[in-house]
Amino acid sequence: MIVNNNIKEIQSLMKDIKKQGKTIGIVPTMGALHAGHMSLVKKAKENCDFIFVSVFVNPTQFGEGEDFDKYPRTLQADLDKCEEEGVDLVFTPTNEIMYGEGYSTYIEALNISQILEGAVRPIHFRGVCTVCTKLFNISMADYGFFGQKDYQQVAVLKKMVRELNAPIELVMCPIIRDTDNLALSSRNVYLSPEERARALFINQGLFAAKEAFDKGEKDINVLRKILTDTILKGKPDHVDYIDIFDRNTLEKAKDVNNAVILIAAKYGSTRLIDNMEL
Ligand code: AMP
Repeated sequence: MIVNNNIKEIQSLMKDIKKQGKTIGIVPTMGALHAGHMSLVKKAKENCDFIFVSVFVNPTQFGEGEDFDKYPRTLQADLDKCEEEGVDLVFTPTNEIMYGEGYSTYIEALNISQILEGAVRPIHFRGVCTVCTKLFNISMADYGFFGQKDYQQVAVLKKMVRELNAPIELVMCPIIRDTDNLALSSRNVYLSPEERARALFINQGLFAAKEAFDKGEKDINVLRKILTDTILKGKPDHVDYIDIFDRNTLEKAKDVNNAVILIAAKYGSTRLIDNMEL
């Protein structure tokens, strides 16, 4: 496995890989790798010849007062997991390498980036779009693998790729959950056992609404009530949104067709997001 942070060297290597007719898959991450991240690597391996993983806690997607400084950093363990999974190249740049002195170019995504996560975290998707564009250019990947866990992120990035005519195809991979069904997240380590117990009502709410839907309940307001009532039993310390949205526009859904449940809530100071398509 190659571990290299020299962008020019990497691009020259990636050109060679392409010349050999191999397909390149990128899995962008912020590290603290868990089974969710590794499921993306596995999916990439099923579909691509050369697997490029980036581990970079991207400062431009964190706002004031967010957890950039305390975000878990476990580089050696991450490298071991990548090696074990047969990753070909890991890119673990510093802020200096990605955003040198005087850095000034950003991708600003509008509309879909300004609601939900974007309403609470105004610069978040600008940072995500910027770093992913840079990573796509550095890796020259044919395919990018992203988790459904960050549902809006996939929607924003797919729109960006389409609108900028970027020569990459993005693949959304299913959410991997822990044994207690909490969606795996690098941020789960912040939760106290008491907060985690309350947070489990998130997945209970998602599964309860989905089960009712699958059994024939098609009244969106009934499903909203099942979802919300269940999650509120866990007494979240703050709710940003618990609702059902249209999968394409991410606007509040008028009916259950093509709908997705999206949730963001805080337990203690830890903000969790989760979702499920109906
Ligand atoms: P992050 O390191 O949090 O930026 O996540 C990197 C990638 O892993 C993103 O595409 C996430 O959506 C994905 N990911 C994070 N958690 C999970 C999970 N539990 N299941 C599937 N993918 C995940």
